[in-house]
Amino acid sequence: MSVLLASDLDQTLIYSERSARADTADLVCVEHYQGNPQSFMSAAAVAALTAADLVPVTTRTVEQLRRVRLPVRGGGFAIAANGGVILQGGVPDESWTAQVAGRLAAVSPLAEVLAWVRAACAPEWTSSVRAAEGMFCYAVVDLALLPAAFEAEAAEWASARGWNVSRQGRKIYWVPNPLTKGAAVREIARRLGSDQIMAAGDSLLDKDLLEIADRGIQPRHGGLFDSGWRADHVVVTGGVGVAAGHEIAEWFAAAV
Ligand SMILES: [Mg+2]
Repeated sequence: MSVLLASDLDQTLIYSERSARADTADLVCVEHYQGNPQSFMSAAAVAALTAADLVPVTTRTVEQLRRVRLPVRGGGFAIAANGGVILQGGVPDESWTAQVAGRLAAVSPLAEVLAWVRAACAPEWTSSVRAAEGMFCYAVVDLALLPAAFEAEAAEWASARGWNVSRQGRKIYWVPNPLTKGAAVREIARRLGSDQIMAAGDSLLDKDLLEIADRGIQPRHGGLFDSGWRADHVVVTGGVGVAAGHEIAEWFAAAV
C-alpha cells in the first residue's frame, strides 16, 4: 500500500520563536530570513522525519517556501500558495497552475478583492497588504488596534464573492474558495497512485486538507483547534507548540 504524507508547515511542523513555546536555543533552525533564524523544529522531530517522503503543503508563496530547509527527502513534491502551486523537484507544474486558474475564474478576481482589502484596511492598524502568486492576498495587522467587527465584515463581503477570510496570528488571509490544499494533495496522490493520505495541519486553511485525508493529526493549538473543529479520523496532539510538532513528526514516521 502506498501512503501519501502531507503536512502543513507553520505551527504544524515548524515554529517561529513566538509560537514554539520552548527555548529556541535547544531547537534546530530550519529557516533564516534576512540573516536571522526564523523557524525551528526540535532535534527529535528532525530525526523522526529524516528521509521521510513527506509533501510540505503550505499557504506560503514559492519564494517563502524555498527559505525552509526541511529534513525530509528532497526532490519530491511540495505544495505552495494554499494549493495553487505544485512543485516537483522545486519546479512549478504549469499544467496544475493552469487548472487552478480555470477554477478561480468561477469566483471574483483577485484584483477586485485586493482593491477592497486596500481600501478597508486602515493604515492605522495595517502594516502591509500583499498579493501572493496572483491568487490570493493577505494583510498584516496590529491586533491591538484591529476593529472588533472587521473580520466578520470582511468575511461577509468575501463570502458573497466566492472567497473566504481567515486569520493566523497577525495575518488576515483572503483566499478564493476553489483554492485549497486538499485539491492539490489529491492531485499528487492521483499522480503517485497513493491509496491513502495522511495529513497534518493547524489552521482553518488546513481543514479541507484534513477532511480529504484518510487519517489526520492536528496540534492542540492554532485556529482550527480554537474553532472547536474535530473529526473522528483526526487525532489531537497532547502537547502544544514545538512539542506538538514533535508528536506530529513521530506520527508521520510511525506510518512509514
Ligand atoms: Mg499552519
